[in-house]
Amino acid sequence: MSFQNPVFIPGPTNMPEALRQACYMPTIDHRSPVFGKILHPCLEGVRKVLKSDSAKIFIFPSTGTGGWETALSNCLNAGDKVLAARNGMFSHRWIDMCQRHGLDVQVVETPWGQGIPAGTYEAILKADKNHDIKVVLATHNETATGVKSDIGAIRKAMDAAGHPALLFVDGVSSIASMDFRFDEWGVDVAVTGSQKGFMLPAGLAILGFSDKAIRASDKATLPRTFFDIKDMQKGYDNNAFPYTPPVGLMNGLKLSLDMLLDEGLENVFARHHRIAEGVRKAVDAWGLELCAASPEFYSDTVSAIRTPEGFNATDIVTVAAKTYGMAFGVGLGEVAGKVFRIGHLGSLTDAMMLSGLATAEMVMVDLGLDIKLGSGVAAAQAFYRHGQASARKAA
Ligand code: PLP
Repeated sequence: MSFQNPVFIPGPTNMPEALRQACYMPTIDHRSPVFGKILHPCLEGVRKVLKSDSAKIFIFPSTGTGGWETALSNCLNAGDKVLAARNGMFSHRWIDMCQRHGLDVQVVETPWGQGIPAGTYEAILKADKNHDIKVVLATHNETATGVKSDIGAIRKAMDAAGHPALLFVDGVSSIASMDFRFDEWGVDVAVTGSQKGFMLPAGLAILGFSDKAIRASDKATLPRTFFDIKDMQKGYDNNAFPYTPPVGLMNGLKLSLDMLLDEGLENVFARHHRIAEGVRKAVDAWGLELCAASPEFYSDTVSAIRTPEGFNATDIVTVAAKTYGMAFGVGLGEVAGKVFRIGHLGSLTDAMMLSGLATAEMVMVDLGLDIKLGSGVAAAQAFYRHGQASARKAA
């Protein structure tokens, strides 16, 4: 008999059994109204999760990376100027994709561990008198460093500069786990995927487009076929895709949205915040530090934890998998070997998180780090007990 631990990688996340069952469904005619009964609730539910009244939602058989490409290829022309900050592996990869599409990216190099500098964006946008910059990119939650950026502040910077660029936000590791305000923040394209906050396997790129972004797509000439939102919209008008949709995954998404909305978005965000705070208490008790440079950058979905100089953080991930059958995330890019990551998003409870912290602790002691067994777990327990007591009182 083989047993399975929960995973603590920052996506794909643990899948509730009901979602697994929902994905595993009999074949239906995907060009019939039966598919419309799955498709349209998905579009409506995603719009609610984005906190938008009017965003046009698109779902492609792809992943977050395909979502980036959908955003770029539908709204831009070769040679267009884009403003982006590089503060981790995922913002780096989106910049790389822009460059491969022949876009001219003005990169704001930002220390890994810090958020997007809205003030620098504002100064650059103010100096761009001819409005050559067509799009501002922002990675809401840098999964590589566990850093959250303030998207509201970026919108304010754009408005203060009186700049008409579109705002594209990568919410792959934030949407459906952390507060995301498409309308309030004036987001033009939001990108996410199915395998993190939505608790599903990878396989769906999920996007919201503002009216302004849709208008930009009328004139944009970058080549696109599979990711063409106009073709996709025509499909939706007939309860279909322009090609064969991943029906099972979308049936899973429909149920995932029901689960998230039943729990209540604010409760989902509060649960993620509480679990993340417990992890941060543990890190503190271990005497270690987060990669995120200060509390305003702390992510509620993933913590990247720095290990002492000279210690290979990747060993923690390797030994955890080999000895205890538990998955944590390795450091990526600039912070490879310097951090290990604990993913704390999706279908997760305080008690599940304690098992992850207990295991991380055992591994670090096994590897000779100067950490007291039980110290981080005790700190998290004390915090979770308090959180549960207030939740019981409120109920
Ligand atoms: N953006 C962020 C912030 C991510 O965390 C990831 C994946 O982890 C991606 C983009 C890429 O998404 P995918 O791996 O689904 O293509």
